[in-house]
Amino acid sequence: MKVLVGIKRVVDHNVRVRAKADGSGADIASAKMSINPFDEHAVEEAVRLKEAGVATEVVVVTAGAANAQDVLRHALALGADRAILVETTDHLNSLASAKVLREIAKREAPQLILIGKQAIDDDAAEVGQMLAALLNVGQATFASTIKIANGKAEVTREIDGGQETVELTLPAVITADLRLNDPRYIKLPNMMMAKKKPLETIAIADLQLNTVSKVATINVAEPPARAVGKMLNSVEELIEVLQAQVKVN
Ligand SMILES: Cc1cc2nc3c(=O)[nH]c(=O)nc-3n(C[C@H](O)[C@H](O)[C@H](O)COP(=O)(O)OP(=O)(O)OC[C@H]3O[C@@H](n4cnc5c(N)ncnc54)[C@H](O)[C@@H]3O)c2cc1C
Repeated sequence: MKVLVGIKRVVDHNVRVRAKADGSGADIASAKMSINPFDEHAVEEAVRLKEAGVATEVVVVTAGAANAQDVLRHALALGADRAILVETTDHLNSLASAKVLREIAKREAPQLILIGKQAIDDDAAEVGQMLAALLNVGQATFASTIKIANGKAEVTREIDGGQETVELTLPAVITADLRLNDPRYIKLPNMMMAKKKPLETIAIADLQLNTVSKVATINVAEPPARAVGKMLNSVEELIEVLQAQVKVN
């Protein structure tokens, strides 16, 4: 069984991002970039499926600029077998990203597509759902456990009231939640080995897709600053403040 994993290069989760002065977007020109954390869980799960003898090959794909090779190498160091870079400097919205993944899925014909439940830069949580719809295959989002057997996937997913378990016929799209696994620590020999693994580059123009967004960002701004808090010394003082200032009776 071949597993295709979609990964995105995003601002590292430890970086505090600021809005650009002209409001045209987030200022990330010199920010540290990393693999989207949820995608790291997706890669880890695919590699575990291979180690368990369930998957035979793990292929990772990203759409982005040439420097997105770094997150592909990271995924190869985690244990993926080969990588594909769909090269573009354009900003791709969720639908455009889903279309790119659909084209690669058509070429690779994987039995399972794993991606993160959302990317931490736009928090859209849309690509998996769109991809499943474009491919007309089943989907399970926010997966916290995945079991594969007899051409089916049993997925436990996080929902508002707790957890639900669904069964999908493969091929299918599953999006990874943080509780799915603990991604392994990458050791130096694995990083060195990852440099020798195959990394194919495809120009996005070769996929002949319409990736023009119908959604435009009008303005990006910092949230309003919070008013300074006040330290109180006792419950009595708190009640006094609530009654006098907040008008709670
Ligand atoms: C583990 C977990 C963590 C979460 N963390 C956050 C968080 O940090 N921040 C956050 O903002 N949210 C969070 N959420 C999401 C939030 O709790 C709700 O799940 C979400 O707001 C509701 O969207 P939905 O897609 O689940 O609901 P849906 O069922 O898709 O409903 C969304 C809307 O669709 C419409 N709709 C649905 N069904 C019908 C119908 N039959 N007829 C007509 N209209 C319909 C309604 O307008 C409804 O309000 C989290 C959810 C989970 C499971």
